[in-house]
Amino acid sequence: MFLPVSALSNPFNHAKDEPLTTVVGVIGGGQLARMMVPPAINLGLDIRVLAENEGSSAQIAATQVGDYTDVETVLAFAADCDVITFDHEHVPAHVLAELIKRGYSVQPGPHALEFAQDKLRMRQRLGDLGIPVPGWTQASTAEHVTDFLAEWGGRAVAKTARGGYDGKGVRVITSAAEVADWLELLQPGESLLLEEFVEFRRELSQLIARRPSGEMALWPVVESIQADGVCSEVIAPAPHSQGKIADMAGSIATQIAAELDVTGVMAVELFETTDDRILVNELAMRPHNSGHWTQDGSTTSQFEQHLRAVLDLPLGATGLTAPFTVMVNILGGPTSGDMLSPFPHAMAEHPTVKIHTYGKEPRPGRKVGHVNASGDDLPEVAYQARGAAGFFQV
Ligand code: ADP
Repeated sequence: MFLPVSALSNPFNHAKDEPLTTVVGVIGGGQLARMMVPPAINLGLDIRVLAENEGSSAQIAATQVGDYTDVETVLAFAADCDVITFDHEHVPAHVLAELIKRGYSVQPGPHALEFAQDKLRMRQRLGDLGIPVPGWTQASTAEHVTDFLAEWGGRAVAKTARGGYDGKGVRVITSAAEVADWLELLQPGESLLLEEFVEFRRELSQLIARRPSGEMALWPVVESIQADGVCSEVIAPAPHSQGKIADMAGSIATQIAAELDVTGVMAVELFETTDDRILVNELAMRPHNSGHWTQDGSTTSQFEQHLRAVLDLPLGATGLTAPFTVMVNILGGPTSGDMLSPFPHAMAEHPTVKIHTYGKEPRPGRKVGHVNASGDDLPEVAYQARGAAGFFQV
């Protein structure tokens, strides 16, 4: 069904002869799309997915397989949807522009999404807004890299501007030679992002939701622990974060969401530095790994909130349902057997935890599920979550 813009601004304004269900279209068939399905069912929404390939994580919903970089494919998918949202940030700008031109409701819109798609644009825009970020520059030649290294004590972090995830596209470097291959691949007009190597005490993530009419909701700031550039654990809320740290994280995320006109859920990844500053590392404009704890530890999960936000519905409460929730990622999965084979042991030994699996084939390093545990004693909660996740990694 193709709706005029006036009707799209409120997807609940159905004309008499139209079906009474609101259709949410999600581009990308990964675990984030999959985890939007249970709240969509609960809310009575019709959720549809444009997946990259057969057998995707999100195939539990009505799924169409197609190329999200192809305008015609995306337009055909969108034709039946009241709102389009995303499982990932890789839909090209010209495809998004075409959706907007045709009057579709795209949440978040391309004017916001571009800052999650391109790390250089993000650094530039956040710097312009006066938001604290690591020292940075853009580099397209070995000389630029060498100059930046000299300025920052001989060590820096190099990043590809686009397409990186889970630490792919991030290198700690001490010489220009270490990024010679990336420099060579740059197209005219492209650059690498170079950043100061931040001495951080820990990494934090501030999750926020914003709806088109402006309402925002913040969850408590969390600590995220990475192994080899991949998130391995999240502690909610971040220990010892009450007061100044929570206030800084919350006001940074609120300012970014409002100034960039972000809609849906956004994660702001942060560094807490050894000299007590909070710097923004990255933005993700979709539900995020650092928010999976909300499924079992908050009144409203990030997946339900994302649906509410993109449909411009009132946002849900974001308070904790237990003093602590720990999320442990299942990375790789069982080396023999399928994802279900550890269930009997994990469930028997850890009856209080919640196990979430993504319907993905176990493969070294791959995120194939996570475990949430909640309670009032942090060491005990962490023990339960790590113990249960451990059954899936043998
Ligand atoms: P990705 O997009 O792959 O998630 P990030 O930019 O988030 O990449 O970087 C991945 C990880 O690398 C971060 O979580 C952090 O641990 C480390 N890192 C990134 N930038 C810096 C930096 N400037 N200083 C120190 N460590 C960094």
